[in-house]
Amino acid sequence: MTKVSEIISNAYRENRKNLLEPEAKTICQEYNIPVTRFNVARSEDEAIRFAQQIGYPIVLKIVSPDIIHKSDAGGVALNLRNHNDIIEAFRTIMDNAKKYKSKAKIAGVLVQEMAPSSTEVIVGAIKDDQFGPSLMFGLGGIFVEILEDVAFRVAPIIREEAEHMVTEIKAYPVLKGYRNQPALDTTTIVDIILRTSKLVTDFQEIKELDLNPIMVYEKGAKTVDARIILE
Ligand code: ADP
Ligand code: MG
Repeated sequence: MTKVSEIISNAYRENRKNLLEPEAKTICQEYNIPVTRFNVARSEDEAIRFAQQIGYPIVLKIVSPDIIHKSDAGGVALNLRNHNDIIEAFRTIMDNAKKYKSKAKIAGVLVQEMAPSSTEVIVGAIKDDQFGPSLMFGLGGIFVEILEDVAFRVAPIIREEAEHMVTEIKAYPVLKGYRNQPALDTTTIVDIILRTSKLVTDFQEIKELDLNPIMVYEKGAKTVDARIILE
């Protein structure tokens, strides 16, 4: 059985429809979708060890099937620069999780690479009753939420269609580069959309997928938060 089907059947067995961030990111890695390097720590010592392996600055996040919006629960600590920062953030995150939901099951603390901030894009997928898996692309923040500047396609798509999704949004000039802003790596964005298309086509159990945000650079991109909801 592939790693992806293993994660999915394990979630079903545990009666979970929301995959944990490390599960969603492992699935992304299986499809060559770039994500921030990560590891799940069960103790402060382990968190320090993983942070050293990954390299500072580090982000810590709560991993709990009972906490879906991690920042709402005080479960995200950004820009940690040394051992002491890790220890302090680890304790704060654990305390916050217990305050947020006293009975929350805690699977651990996600230790991950802090991605340098950049232009943020969103790649999403949602399974439509009629059309099946559909893909969404847009720029992060107000572009999607307020301006609704997004492109949609029914999966699976070919490269030309993915390229079209990127160029047809109004905000495309932000990616293409303007004035003294350099062009960003739209080839990597197209790759991510195509790989997402393949993933949601291969695994029809996926009801919703959200790579939000993906930091896009002049070369490469990194998915910072990944959410997958099963049927
Ligand atoms: P939530 O469950 O609240 O959506 P996120 O994982 O999205 O939690 O974290 C909240 C925000 O913190 C993100 O939208 C992003 O701006 C920032 N962030 C999270 N992880 C990273 C990271 N590895 N590198 C840089 N910024 C990050
Ligand atoms: Mg998020």
